[in-house]
Amino acid sequence: ATSGKHNFNSGPSILPKEVFEEAAQGVLNFNGSGLSILEIGHRTKLFGAVIEEAIATLKELMQLDSEHEVLFLHGGASTQFFQVPMNLLDGNAVAAYTDTGIWGSKAIKEAKLFGSVDVVCSSKAENYTYLPKNFVLDKAKHAYVHITSNETVYGTQWHDLSPFYNSGVPVVADMSSDILSRQLDFNRFDLIYAGAQKNIGAAGVNVVVVNKRCLGKVTRALPSMMDYRAHIEASSLLNTPPVFAIYVCMLTLRWLKNFGGIAAAEKLNNQKAELMYQTVDALPIFKGTVAKEDRSTMNACFVATNEELEKEFLALCEKEGMVGVKGYRTVGGFRVSMYNALPLESVKAMTDLMKHFAQTKG
Ligand code: PMP
Repeated sequence: ATSGKHNFNSGPSILPKEVFEEAAQGVLNFNGSGLSILEIGHRTKLFGAVIEEAIATLKELMQLDSEHEVLFLHGGASTQFFQVPMNLLDGNAVAAYTDTGIWGSKAIKEAKLFGSVDVVCSSKAENYTYLPKNFVLDKAKHAYVHITSNETVYGTQWHDLSPFYNSGVPVVADMSSDILSRQLDFNRFDLIYAGAQKNIGAAGVNVVVVNKRCLGKVTRALPSMMDYRAHIEASSLLNTPPVFAIYVCMLTLRWLKNFGGIAAAEKLNNQKAELMYQTVDALPIFKGTVAKEDRSTMNACFVATNEELEKEFLALCEKEGMVGVKGYRTVGGFRVSMYNALPLESVKAMTDLMKHFAQTKG
């Protein structure tokens, strides 16, 4: 935010101030060209440099090997809910899906249109407050396993991915809300997708990281716009891409690289999450909604002891310029999102406000 507000929005969400400034400049006069980024062709040298830098920086930050391709596609992460099975799941094949929240269940619904879905675990009966660990993956049966690495609405995050990596089943991850927030061996995934509007940049584009080797195996005919291979061949310029959104991604990726990369972001994210959860646990007036071992470093979900207090605290947040704190309607209470660009000072301000509120109510 540029206005002294603390922005805890779940997405679209806070981006670095430098990115806002540079993006604004690019709208007025892109790189001294005398033209706006909004009025240049996507096949010009000017934009070619933008998308090339975005792809190269993402590959560098994620330390991707040469088998993994980076694509910038339209349609949000929700398009990936069906584009993934279209490309990877044959009509008579079975994919394993983990039902750990609203996003996983939407992905399941779409995958069923293209093949069989084996829901190998679900925490739905407990309102998605934990991540189930007693699932069985079978490499002879499952074409791939789909996970939501971070559940944005319920505030859970898979911290140990080894049961997926070690299963021998190709792993597909919806990383919309925690991509670039922590170090992972990204090359162990066959496919990663993420809407850009949290840790990568502006809404209107999503990032797909795909291992080329898993493509071309389904028998169905694919429309070109749905075929990852066509996008790889065209270097994400199969049609007019969301030029401005990709520009903002490039600026955010450049910022993250200068910030010290994913390692530096992870360190800060852990500090923020620790302070947040310590505060929730220390104040009897608040209560975390998620099993401690599964708590997300990106989205902290908690409630207050009664609805009246929740209303009062939300009003106080609004008065103090704390934006985006209300929990999703199926969870209630509060959700404090702490993406890469959120400074530690914002979490300090929030936890100070929580302590102050608890005192006045104690
Ligand atoms: N998956 C996850 C984990 C999300 O958090 C979201 C959106 N917040 C989506 C998918 C859907 O993304 P989009 O709105 O870009 O389609």
